[in-house]
Amino acid sequence: MDTLLHGVLGAVACSRTGLPGGRRGPVDERGRRQFTDWTLWAALGFGLFPDIASLGIHFATDLFTGNGIRWHGIPDFVFLLYNLTHSLLGIAIGYALLVAWKRSLWLPALAWPLHVLVDVPTHGDGRFITPLFWPFSEAGFTGWSWWVFPWVFYGGWIAAGVLWLLVIVLRLSWRKPT
Ligand SMILES: [Zn+2]
Repeated sequence: MDTLLHGVLGAVACSRTGLPGGRRGPVDERGRRQFTDWTLWAALGFGLFPDIASLGIHFATDLFTGNGIRWHGIPDFVFLLYNLTHSLLGIAIGYALLVAWKRSLWLPALAWPLHVLVDVPTHGDGRFITPLFWPFSEAGFTGWSWWVFPWVFYGGWIAAGVLWLLVIVLRLSWRKPT
């Protein structure tokens, strides 16, 4: 899916401001409601991360060198990074390291595997088929590429909108215990 949608989905599914916050929303250790929830921004970042840390590097260098955005001539190391960030092996290692470093990252860091999970059905055959079993197997699921099928693209954004709407409905239904 497009990178931005991954960020928005990660935030709604893997932050305390999103659905995991339940009816109450983000609260701190003492149960006080927070208005600045760091897990929201962390989940957004982890949702964007797999694409930014791979294709993003290529596009950023293209942009800085004045080549404009090019989909051809993508260097091999970018594909290596793409495989690393979009494979079960890469996710397992990355997630384990992140949680070992900072326990509380367990929730927002889930936006990374979620990104790849969403990519599987929304990337068709070709160079950007999700390399789930890299480096062991090139097998992959031939999905419906979001850049080919508009209904996949719009369906994703509608789903994200519905999920955020659900968050708002949940929060409105919360009554402070008296
Ligand atoms: Zn991706």
